[in-house]
Amino acid sequence: MAPLPALITRENFKSFLESFDTVLTDCDGVLWHEDRLIGQAHVTLNTLQALGKKVFFVTNNSIKSRDDYIEKCGRLGFKATKVCTGCVVRCVETVAERLATVMGKPSTKMFSVIQEKNSLDPKRTLMIGDRCNTDILFGKNCGLQTLVVLSGVTTQADLEKWAASDDPEQHALLADYCLTQLDDHLAFLDPKQEQK
Ligand SMILES: [Mg+2]
Repeated sequence: MAPLPALITRENFKSFLESFDTVLTDCDGVLWHEDRLIGQAHVTLNTLQALGKKVFFVTNNSIKSRDDYIEKCGRLGFKATKVCTGCVVRCVETVAERLATVMGKPSTKMFSVIQEKNSLDPKRTLMIGDRCNTDILFGKNCGLQTLVVLSGVTTQADLEKWAASDDPEQHALLADYCLTQLDDHLAFLDPKQEQK
């Protein structure tokens, strides 16, 4: 048995929000499905940026170029750039292309490169993802805080199965926190923090 990820609630939201300075977020299944936004994910991330959090969009997807991602982010309302205020990072750009398949999530290599360039503190960095054997394992391998959203691959039933298991490898898939989808906690963000 292992504990299930903690639900973010009105009571623990403030301490959760103050516990990280940097957000690494997966894209597909967290921010969008294909060309469809997931709820108001863009408002959540833009508000976190307005609150001073650094945001990195991290993806293993090697089909699209970084420019494609920046264009897509902009079209869907996310503030993403090449320089690192809302920086888009693809594993094939952080490591040699021939190594991309073994150096993407959950390998720690991608974080090492981002960390080196941006002096990030792993303990104050939150990894958000929908796929636990890549995103969440990546976060845990790198010593980050982890948040699983149930808007993509992982289901509540998966979490319960892993928590009930005796297998440490399944426990390793359990994130610290859980949200149904990324904009769930929007109502808890300070309404005075309007986006510019
Ligand atoms: Mg995903």
